[in-house]
Amino acid sequence: MAEVYIGLGSNLKGHGGSPETQLDRAIESISQRPDINLMAVSPRYQTRAIGPGNQPDYINAVARLNTELSPLDLLDCLQKIEHQQGRVRTIRWGARTLDLDILLYNDQVIDSERLTVPHPRMHERAFVLAPLRDLDASIVLPNGENILSLLANCSDQGIVKFQSLE
Ligand code: ATP
Ligand code: MG
Ligand code: MG
Repeated sequence: MAEVYIGLGSNLKGHGGSPETQLDRAIESISQRPDINLMAVSPRYQTRAIGPGNQPDYINAVARLNTELSPLDLLDCLQKIEHQQGRVRTIRWGARTLDLDILLYNDQVIDSERLTVPHPRMHERAFVLAPLRDLDASIVLPNGENILSLLANCSDQGIVKFQSLE
């Protein structure tokens, strides 16, 4: 059984409604899979978009999963959920209804055409590191870097805990 962390993000309304609802639906879809155990979901953060153009803010969170799926089978599953929720791939880092990224898969290092784990940009993204820290502040990456010191290095990124207005 692998212990996996995935990052969730949304900044667009899709068929399923607001970005918050997109995350709710994704978490629901993941929890309904017989081959995935959803163990924990972090608090949500509101973050400014890093991609091109003038995009709406993101809502981000991290989830911990236990699964027997291989890394690539898990990626297929996550991409299916992105697709179900109306994600359309246009320009790189463009606005999207849902983004599901594999951050960590046990302590495996994977570098294949479709999949790089640990996620190659997680160490520089406060919107990934802060919710990861909320789930387990003692996480250490396969290369020995720890979450708290990585997070301290991106303290200027201005992310805030998301307060729903509903
Ligand atoms: P970023 O990777 O900077 O967060 P993104 O999430 O917007 O950008 P996507 O358009 O969702 O990028 O994915 C592009 C491709 O990245 C996917 O088709 C997938 O094959 C590949 N990929 C490589 N490593 C990973 C990973 N760890 N998790 C998810 N996708 C990955
Ligand atoms: Mg991403
Ligand atoms: Mg992605």
